[in-house]
Amino acid sequence: MTDPMPNYDDSNIFARILRGELPCTGVWQDEAVLAFMDITPVTAGHVLVLPKIPSRNLLDANPVTLEALILRVQRIAKGAMIGMGSDGVSIQQFNEEAGGQSVFHLHFHVLPRWNNVPLKPPGGAAEKTEILVEQAQKIHRALV
Ligand code: AMP
Repeated sequence: MTDPMPNYDDSNIFARILRGELPCTGVWQDEAVLAFMDITPVTAGHVLVLPKIPSRNLLDANPVTLEALILRVQRIAKGAMIGMGSDGVSIQQFNEEAGGQSVFHLHFHVLPRWNNVPLKPPGGAAEKTEILVEQAQKIHRALV
């Protein structure tokens, strides 16, 4: 069986974004979280919300981190719906490779949804930066 609690590895791409070593298209930032646009979105306005405190995924996150994170996820979900003008919003979160996780720093996907529009398959093409910036601005404006 796979180790249920592998260690956090701070060389993951989201840790590098949090340290400012790699760029992102930011949506929201406060003392607890950073939210930015997913580069290969499965829907327009696809946002990732991650805690600043390192956690590999939901399984090793401490309660204080989780409480702060889920409150931000709720807020950003509302902002994404309002900012993108969507009909609904889906929240996804994956744990370990077998659970669909590919970046090993805890994160939630916030996915604006429109009636009868399916999500695109994951791992598609990267979105143009100018489109991500435009969507990030719309969502940010709905949050302030
Ligand atoms: P998962 O670990 O499967 O929950 O998803 C990781 C997500 O991170 C995927 O949707 C990727 O498109 C996204 N992703 C990977 N690298 C970056 C990056 N540098 N900036 C923004 N999103 C990223």
